[in-house]
Amino acid sequence: MLHLIAAHQARPGDDPIFALNKEASERRARGETIVNATVGALLDDAGKLAVLPTAARAVHEVPPAEWAAYAPISGLPDFLRAVSDDLLARAPVLRECSVAAATPGGSGALHHAIKNFLEPGQTLLTTNFFWGPYQTLADESDRKLATFDMFAPDPAAALDRALGAIVSEQKRALLFVNDPCHNPTGYSMTDEEWHAFLEVIASHGKNAPVTLLLDVAYADYGARDFRASLGRFEKVLDRVQILFAYSASKAFTHYGLRVGAIVACTPDQKERAAIDAAFGYSCRGTWSNCVRGGQRAVTRLLTDPELSAALKAERDDLKSLLLRRVAAFNARAKDAKLRYPRYEGGFFVTVFCEDGPKEAARMREMGVYVVPQKKAVRVALCGVSEAEIPRLVEALAPLGA
Ligand code: PLP
Repeated sequence: MLHLIAAHQARPGDDPIFALNKEASERRARGETIVNATVGALLDDAGKLAVLPTAARAVHEVPPAEWAAYAPISGLPDFLRAVSDDLLARAPVLRECSVAAATPGGSGALHHAIKNFLEPGQTLLTTNFFWGPYQTLADESDRKLATFDMFAPDPAAALDRALGAIVSEQKRALLFVNDPCHNPTGYSMTDEEWHAFLEVIASHGKNAPVTLLLDVAYADYGARDFRASLGRFEKVLDRVQILFAYSASKAFTHYGLRVGAIVACTPDQKERAAIDAAFGYSCRGTWSNCVRGGQRAVTRLLTDPELSAALKAERDDLKSLLLRRVAAFNARAKDAKLRYPRYEGGFFVTVFCEDGPKEAARMREMGVYVVPQKKAVRVALCGVSEAEIPRLVEALAPLGA
């Protein structure tokens, strides 16, 4: 007799990326020289997890009682203020109408968006390459996931068709866009591309409630300052519900601290209050409340001028380390004629091929680990030193045109 409900009896137990990482680490521990481009954490060139010293210090200095006590259900008010300021200080219209709740990482924010902006059974829309847990989060919430081709000759037209179909079918839509430094492709959208997308999204927002969630998990590692261009979202506020999934995992190099927030920008005061209450209710109904100590540390890092300047300088160094890898990859990948999207920064890049699983298996035999996708492999440059890049590209070379 099986006690698990039918729909959950064949759930894959192990996250495939974590499983590959485990295998690569075990081979390395046995003395093999392995290039491990699987996991999305930024490692230094010696292969150690890069931890921003100022962030570590702030975490260390949080007093025991702050770790021990509960936080308010929706998060510490000064944490929510600090996050909203960090994100939206340069977009005052968004800031003015924002409301936020603490979540365990950006993942929690994605969860809250799915639960509160789609009915059960409805479909979430995102790009055809996407971070795998989007599907898991949808499954877990009894929602479905559909995609549009982000690299179609006219991506805005592809979005228009997909969004139109969803709006006519379910009379509402929720769209996840991970930008800048999209995981897994490494793509960062241009101003013109955003302009075209927002025109499409706002046009559907005339007919039904349309929500756009910006997953900005990697925003601090982009080649351009994404905060400088947030004004573009102010222009569609009357038609589109804007949400942000804010994550402290990459921005503060504290992945395990599980600090994040969902930020909603809603001009109508009554609707904003309802969203605020719905977020609080969702918090209570899932994880109750988030770690208070983590919120304290991040608040201090965002609001103490000395700490925040030190943090920024350290993060700029890390960003430069990553950008050096990106430049080294681009130079060699061009020679190898690899096919991949424009790559200007961020943790990952995706190299296109005919058969991702077959290529990833071939590379594994050479001691090079990447994450297979259907017709591509994801390469986590965040975990590869500059010195390893020639070997990495050599293993990828058969994928070249
Ligand atoms: N969004 C994307 C695209 C990610 O890759 C990740 C983490 O890898 C997240 C969101 C959320 O991460 P966390 O829950 O650790 O903040």
